[in-house]
Amino acid sequence: MMNTIEVGDRKFGISITNERINERTKEIAAQINAEYKDKRPLFIGVLNGCFLFMADLLKETVIPCEVAFMKVSSYKGGLTSTGELKEIFGLPENLQDRHLVIVEDIVDTGLTLKYILEKVYLQQPASVRVCSLLFKPEAILSPIKELEYVGFEIPNEFVVGYGLDYDELGRNLKHIYRTIS
Ligand code: 5GP
Repeated sequence: MMNTIEVGDRKFGISITNERINERTKEIAAQINAEYKDKRPLFIGVLNGCFLFMADLLKETVIPCEVAFMKVSSYKGGLTSTGELKEIFGLPENLQDRHLVIVEDIVDTGLTLKYILEKVYLQQPASVRVCSLLFKPEAILSPIKELEYVGFEIPNEFVVGYGLDYDELGRNLKHIYRTIS
């Protein structure tokens, strides 16, 4: 395994290996399997960053469930969140009385999630919880009570890999890397 890699014009060092991600993902899936056993949850993945986590998480679920994806346009390639949110695409329109699990790659300031939750609640779902692979507690602007499942809490630093990009590069990396230099 390479401990240091280059993505675009920056160097990154290993942060969380794929093996650790898989172990933690199995633990979260076990929790979800127990807690949503008879609820036929609808998992809604937030693209693009969630794609690997969503796939690995759902492969470990053993309960009847449905799967959907949505997209929020934001975060234009740089290293810091602009907080500028645009639009939601593809949010399912039949969420009333459903048990929802929103699957995210990372919660940073929480602004994206706050925006998504506002839209989701308009449809009066039965329950809403969020499952995020990564969470930066130091960056969150206001607490999000729905954030029930967190893979790893990480410091307030930029990470790439396992779905997360740096200027659209690096999503295919199997480990998660942190920015260095
Ligand atoms: P928030 O709205 O919580 O500040 O940011 C959420 C979005 O910003 C994430 O879905 C992700 O696209 C992007 N983001 C936040 N922190 C990072 C990071 O460390 N690395 C990458 N690649 N994207 C991040």
